[in-house]
Amino acid sequence: MKTKNLYSIVFQAIRIWDQLAEDLYERQRKAGVTPLKSLTEIGIGVTALNVILSHWVSQFGSAFIFLLSCTALVIAYVLRLYNRENQAKWLVIGTFNATLCFACYFAGLKTGTYLYYFPVIFAMVFLIDSKINQELLIIEAITMTFLGVTFLFSPYEIQSAEAGSDSFHYFFRTNLSLSLIFTGIVGYSILKTLGVKEEEMRSEKAFSDTIFNTSLDASFIIGLDDELVVDCNERVLELFGYGKKDAVLDRSVESLLGRPALEIVRTFRLGNTSQMTPWVGNMEFEQLNGVPVYAHTNIVGFNHQGKRFVKMSILDITQIRIAEVETLKAKEKAERAAMVKSRFLSNMSHELRTPLNAIIGTTNLLLDEGFSDDKRPMLDVLKHSSEHMLELVNDVLDYSKLEADKMELEKLPFILQGGLKKLHGIFQPAYQAKQLQFRLEEDIPPGIMVVGDELRLTQVLNNLLSNALKFTEKGQVVLSVKAMNQTRDAMSIQFSVADTGIGIQKEKLHRIFDKFYQTDAMTTRKYGGSGLGLAISKYLVSLMGGTLQVESTPRKGSCFSFIIQLPIIASQNGKEAVIVEGMHNQLEGVKILIAEDNPVNMMVVKKFLQKWGVEVTEAINGLEALDALRAQPFDLLLVDLEMPLVDGAGVVAVSRKEYPRIPVIAFTAAVYDNMIEDLHQKGFSDFLPKPFRPDDLKDKIVKLLTPAGSEKRRA
Ligand code: ADP
Repeated sequence: MKTKNLYSIVFQAIRIWDQLAEDLYERQRKAGVTPLKSLTEIGIGVTALNVILSHWVSQFGSAFIFLLSCTALVIAYVLRLYNRENQAKWLVIGTFNATLCFACYFAGLKTGTYLYYFPVIFAMVFLIDSKINQELLIIEAITMTFLGVTFLFSPYEIQSAEAGSDSFHYFFRTNLSLSLIFTGIVGYSILKTLGVKEEEMRSEKAFSDTIFNTSLDASFIIGLDDELVVDCNERVLELFGYGKKDAVLDRSVESLLGRPALEIVRTFRLGNTSQMTPWVGNMEFEQLNGVPVYAHTNIVGFNHQGKRFVKMSILDITQIRIAEVETLKAKEKAERAAMVKSRFLSNMSHELRTPLNAIIGTTNLLLDEGFSDDKRPMLDVLKHSSEHMLELVNDVLDYSKLEADKMELEKLPFILQGGLKKLHGIFQPAYQAKQLQFRLEEDIPPGIMVVGDELRLTQVLNNLLSNALKFTEKGQVVLSVKAMNQTRDAMSIQFSVADTGIGIQKEKLHRIFDKFYQTDAMTTRKYGGSGLGLAISKYLVSLMGGTLQVESTPRKGSCFSFIIQLPIIASQNGKEAVIVEGMHNQLEGVKILIAEDNPVNMMVVKKFLQKWGVEVTEAINGLEALDALRAQPFDLLLVDLEMPLVDGAGVVAVSRKEYPRIPVIAFTAAVYDNMIEDLHQKGFSDFLPKPFRPDDLKDKIVKLLTPAGSEKRRA
């Protein structure tokens, strides 16, 4: 019973000590206390105590040695404070050994002082962090050397007056017990530290395992020497459909992830694994059931315990990829739809323009040839309605180009005043009919020749003037063109169209440039229109480098204006205009070949040309045109683009080769992207869209046949 009690007391004591040691360790760890610090502090305490004790028992030699040791340990303590851990460590080791050596020398071996070497040896291990390494071996060797020196040089027994044999026994027993206790304490502390460290390592491993396994990346660790999978995380099992890790471990990369993956892994064998740049890219894998997996993959090399590995992380992006493919498909579909729309518009415009051409042409012919007075209003209605319809067709086409941002401007020289006068002439009768005053105010150098897209500039002004005409009931409309700023090479010009019409309300002003916008439903009913004109005009002005602006007051009027900068060539002082004017009557005897398969169009063009005195030769397809071209000389060719047997492009190709000096005008109802550029590239000198205005046709012929025009062509 007594023994049992004793056991339980000892057991209890060990548990308390264990708890205390653990608490102490934990507290020290938290406070950043290292074994070196503890040993230095304990050493200072013990040596200082020994100085006092030795002095007390009049062992002045020992007292001096302990004093030296204490000083050395204090120095080590200070070194530690200055972060010189390594020097402090060696000083502590040397001091412990030397102190013991001298203590044994002065006390004699019989006292058993050397027994303190045991706890010191253990404590040294503690200093080196409980791992066997070269440093530890050096420390052990030093300690053994000191031990050897101690045994060699220390006397066995010190002859002292006071020390009897009893006191030696007493000393020996005390030293033996103390050294055993110290050894026990130090040994226990080492084991405890190891235990706690192992626990820490285990918890760290568990933590990194959790990170590894909860990652959304499926990660494979692959050995580079044998190309086998050595580890993988749980996401791998989930993503690829494997039940257990065993189904993955020790399998070859190729069998699990395919040949492409293997080839990339192999590139890591060539270089220094840990220094190689990671491989990053998208790859396709296969699940166990054959379903494809699209993945963003990265492969990183690393070394572990002398072996080379790669970590392959696979992030499943199948859903993103599917979405991408869907978006791509939708985009392609939309592009196809846009293309179909564009083709449809182009075809429709062709289809619409051909009969319109016939209607407008025939009406013009009728108006030109004499008619009874009662027919005039009807013919006017016919003319204006067909021209209005043509404008609508053109607007829809321009709008489709604007939407696709495919509108391109020409850069050709033209005389600004010529175009303005013509525009004034075209609108004058309509304004007169509404009893409105229409004025053209020019403040530009006479005959100035600028470079730009005359057709598009005219289109903008045409649209502004049509609107002014439409929305003004009384008063006047002024088209003003003003040179703002002129350098040697360019000129800023302000164009404005001011009317005294219905005006626009302030809150609606910012919307009038939106496509299909009309200020109110009444406008459409009363004035017609598509609501596209201003949107197209604004876009065209912006392509020319300007901004279309508006100022308006309801019931007072509106003013639309823009400033653009146009390169200037030279002032012609009206010479060309004169030449052109003069030439108008000189088409007499000019020989023109018309290649056109549509009999109505042919009839209309022929009639006009003949009216101007032109000698016309007809060809109803490209082949006939080429035969005619080879049979007799011509001054100019007017060639339809779409014709049977040989098309317009075929005719112009031969004519450019065999008769490079004869100008060729393309005559077409089709409108397509980059048309002007394309026609120039094919060799056409100019083009005339169907339906045409007779004046336009005449102007173009005259321009191409005048010396200035032909110079330009050759350039
Ligand atoms: P559309 O004239 O074919 O209706 P626009 O884009 O040219 O289309 O014009 C859009 C709208 O802006 C017109 O419907 C009209 O309400 C308004 N607007 C344009 N010009 C004028 C103007 N000079 N005076 C009054 N309102 C105008």
